[in-house]
Amino acid sequence: MTPTPACATEADSQPTAAQTEGPYFTPDSPERSNFREDGAESVPLVVSGLVYSTDCRPVPDALIDVWHADAAGEYDNRGYRMRGHFFTDAEGRYRLETIVPGQYPGRTRHLHVKVQAPRGRVLTTQLYFPDEPANSRDRIFHPELTMAVSDSPGGKQAEFNFVVQA
Ligand code: FE
Repeated sequence: MTPTPACATEADSQPTAAQTEGPYFTPDSPERSNFREDGAESVPLVVSGLVYSTDCRPVPDALIDVWHADAAGEYDNRGYRMRGHFFTDAEGRYRLETIVPGQYPGRTRHLHVKVQAPRGRVLTTQLYFPDEPANSRDRIFHPELTMAVSDSPGGKQAEFNFVVQA
């Protein structure tokens, strides 16, 4: 991934689409960029990319809060399993080490995310996996929020760049 965003087209500088927070957000998540647990049956997933502004500048120190279902498709609504927040680096890059979330009834596979540039507005959205049969049946699914997912040794890696209002 290049450190500077390529705003080659008009679409590259459009803000990332917002989506519903859903019912399972928990505030005050721990600061961490690794949600993995020892011994759990799961497929490792690395999610990485950039946060940049609508004027195509990388956003350092952007807050990213992620929460998602565990491998069994369940949210931890009492504690902070599969929840955490972290920040972009000086080049606007982020990297989360987690697992592929399981699916739960009524939804396709997804991650929930909040992104906030320093002193900016909070973008609440969701990220999706390509080639999921349930994508076409999910009324919240948005194709522009599909990550670029590829196989990596022992797991999956996914890339997504967020565009936030400067
Ligand atoms: Fe959800």
